[in-house]
Amino acid sequence: MKILLVALGLFLGSIGSSAFAGDCVSQKEMAEIASNFSQFKKLSGKEYCYDGSQTSNLIATIMYMRKTAFAQDMKPSSDELFSGRFAQSWYNYFIGRINDLNVQSSCPKGVGAYVYGFGNTMYVCPMMLTDSFSSLDRASVFMHEARHIDGYPHITCSRGARKNLQGACDSRISDGGSYAVTVETYAQLAKYATDLHPALRAYAMASAVTYADEAFETPTRVNRQENLLLMAESRDLYLMDIGNAFRMKSQGQTPALGHIVPRAQHMILFPDDKSQTARYLFTKNAGEISQAAGDAVVEYNSKSPEERSRLVDLHIAAQWNAKIYTDRVTLACDPRSPSTSDLSFNGATPVGILYINGYTRTADINYVMTSTGTVYEFGCQNGRALLRPSSVKMDQKYKRIHKVGNTMMALTQDGYLYQINGSQASPVKTDIDGQIHEIAPRQSYQFLDGMN
Ligand SMILES: [Zn+2]
Repeated sequence: MKILLVALGLFLGSIGSSAFAGDCVSQKEMAEIASNFSQFKKLSGKEYCYDGSQTSNLIATIMYMRKTAFAQDMKPSSDELFSGRFAQSWYNYFIGRINDLNVQSSCPKGVGAYVYGFGNTMYVCPMMLTDSFSSLDRASVFMHEARHIDGYPHITCSRGARKNLQGACDSRISDGGSYAVTVETYAQLAKYATDLHPALRAYAMASAVTYADEAFETPTRVNRQENLLLMAESRDLYLMDIGNAFRMKSQGQTPALGHIVPRAQHMILFPDDKSQTARYLFTKNAGEISQAAGDAVVEYNSKSPEERSRLVDLHIAAQWNAKIYTDRVTLACDPRSPSTSDLSFNGATPVGILYINGYTRTADINYVMTSTGTVYEFGCQNGRALLRPSSVKMDQKYKRIHKVGNTMMALTQDGYLYQINGSQASPVKTDIDGQIHEIAPRQSYQFLDGMN
């Protein structure tokens, strides 16, 4: 049986920590690595310098597993994100199960690596080994695959973000299968790696929670709080505690004014200045990572500023996505194929997605506001692309709507915040009234952030 790692667009793009040309691995290290992986024997007589090749990225990942330093005392989390049971030497765990890395020339969409239910070979897909992919992600994937050597095949989820995707789930995180390893390795990096860039730390944390949320049939317990992130015209960011009198806490600045597109627990910034590229956004001045935030962002960044300005909004679900352009929506409804469908707005002009039911990765349908104030529905229902006028009516042409818990929050075109209750919109007073540029849902996690 072939055991796939289903990445589904989460593991795409690169991180700044990937192997930089010029960094070298000592002769002594190479001899050690070659003693565990005979395929590197011919490289073992001398120092090895990274060159961005597939072999280079394999070796960089092995080095990442060998050398990443963690805190001495790694306490388990009070939820199910981190038990510490895979926290011993990652490298020793890995070489205890895998002794051959076989690079494939092609793999199906979304597949990063796999093993069979026999032998000690891990098959690595080319997507994983591009220079635009990080050793941090690869290390997590390699540990996941190694766990399969102990057994632990996947199941098909009957519910949730990965519903009906063959072999894309484990039953529950407490079983300690391969997705538990994925969650724990990311959580361990986020919380306990001693020398990790703050943006990578935030990226690892968001990845841990995303897998915890999406790759298990039985929901994983993650202690968290839902908040609203506000971006002011001054570029200041604030986290608003909806349940605590809308109290706001400073979160540093955004590198650019723009639109925030949620992608599971990650946030992607699409700058208003269309000469700038879209990229992951991190709060608290954590900085940036060089990684492209998925296929849709790679495509966007490859276009001219003028072409970029035609993308109005982007919705990223677990199994489908929608690119809202000025005149149409392009829907990718099949998670196993790159095919897309274009549907026309027939003269209406979309201005932005309204997450009336909240941003979820599981919903089939979402809503989009048009320039006349009418609302359309778009989505993928039973695998079929859909765009139609909606019966939903809003009292004004909102720029953004998000839900925080059960509370619907709306941003007006002129920068004011409202709470919507049924057909009633009540203003929420802030210190940046009239200066609110963007809002986005944002969770904080007890394990990493503590609570607000
Ligand atoms: Zn797997």
